[in-house]
Amino acid sequence: MKKKIIVVGGGAAGFFCAANLDEKKYEVKILEQNSDVLQKVKISGGGRCNVTHACFDPRDLVKFYPRGNKELLSVFSKFQPGDTMEWFANRNVPLKIENDNRIFPESNSSQSIINCFKKEIQEKNFEIVTKTTVREIQKTENQYLVKTNIGEFIADYIIYTTGSSPKSLKILENLGHKTVPAVPSLFTFNIHDELLNELPGTSFEWAEVSIPKLKIEESGPLLITHWGLSGPAILKISAWKARELFDLNYQFEIKVNFSAETIEDAEIIFAEFKQQHPKKTIGQSKIFNVTQRFWNQLLAVSRINPEKQVAQISQKEMRSLLDQLCRKTFKVEGKSTFKDEFVTAGGVELKEINFKNMSSKILENFYIAGEVLNIDAVTGGFNFQACWSEAWLMAEDLNG
Ligand SMILES: Cc1cc2nc3c(=O)[nH]c(=O)nc-3n(C[C@H](O)[C@H](O)[C@H](O)COP(=O)(O)OP(=O)(O)OC[C@H]3O[C@@H](n4cnc5c(N)ncnc54)[C@H](O)[C@@H]3O)c2cc1C
Repeated sequence: MKKKIIVVGGGAAGFFCAANLDEKKYEVKILEQNSDVLQKVKISGGGRCNVTHACFDPRDLVKFYPRGNKELLSVFSKFQPGDTMEWFANRNVPLKIENDNRIFPESNSSQSIINCFKKEIQEKNFEIVTKTTVREIQKTENQYLVKTNIGEFIADYIIYTTGSSPKSLKILENLGHKTVPAVPSLFTFNIHDELLNELPGTSFEWAEVSIPKLKIEESGPLLITHWGLSGPAILKISAWKARELFDLNYQFEIKVNFSAETIEDAEIIFAEFKQQHPKKTIGQSKIFNVTQRFWNQLLAVSRINPEKQVAQISQKEMRSLLDQLCRKTFKVEGKSTFKDEFVTAGGVELKEINFKNMSSKILENFYIAGEVLNIDAVTGGFNFQACWSEAWLMAEDLNG
């Protein structure tokens, strides 16, 4: 007789686990509350699904996970982005690496990933049960009783992959698990400042951002939006300090260096330019690697006439200009969602999970993976990679 597995939640982690389970050993049902499965995969990566990231050394890979980095090292040493690429390629879904190392399906469509998963599940004769909300799970002597809106299911094993909704965490708490309260991660900063006004869409190749109060610094590309600042440098810092920024109610100061230069180097560069081009107007002298529109705005907020010759720029004016460029302080007043990509920090306490196989240390024959755990990553395909790797370990353990 085949053993019964109930997968609670038809998302990335649940499907990847089911797709790797041995159909000769198990009868598998995926219970999903929505009318369709894999809805987050569908909208992920702007509809292209950023499946993973071209970072193939587990020690480097874990550095992208503000929560879970220690625990994931052993997980990634067993299944990492190279394995993900191979897994999909073997199923006729080739993936491609883009210039920034993000990995997408060659088709540029998340539907290829969804079709692939659904095909695997169908070929294994596993069942997908939609519009089925798991409300409670009870442990019986050797099995689990899964109570839903459409009735009860019996399971020998539970794969718990519900994502991070408070209700799904409550079910685990009722079974004895501890959870860390969920707070948002990966968001952009709301800022009202004349330097940023009228410049949405302006990007910077490399900027440095710090939050002095939290003693954290990040660097990377930066983007001015309608609401303030975004881009990898901001998203990274929002993820690393997700909990502290929540405690500050998203009211804090940040310092930004829009150029890759220190203020001291910027002064030298400015002085050299002044010597070489004294007669040029400052408006035409975009000395640093920023857009002309941003340069004009820097001059405007520093109250410098763009028609003034570089030689006539006073020491005070230069200081004011370089302060805006290299060490501008902004007041952040709130946050916004990044391209609808909301990820939460928080979830099941990691010390209650056995990371050799993602099993619960509290409940026998019970596995937990994906965003329901207190694990999350910066943007770039890392959140899915954690799902694939964890799900693969669960399936390996069950397949024996
Ligand atoms: C807009 C957006 C874009 C994203 N893009 C990317 C990207 O490109 N790359 C990347 O790496 N990450 C991305 N992410 C993050 C990524 O989608 C998540 O990390 C990932 O989906 C988590 O997978 P999961 O299986 O743990 O949970 P989910 O994908 O959330 O799946 C959980 C499933 O369980 C179901 N469920 C919950 N509770 C119950 C219940 N009680 N009974 C039955 N069913 C239940 C839910 O309806 C859901 O279908 C994105 C997130 C968003 C919101």
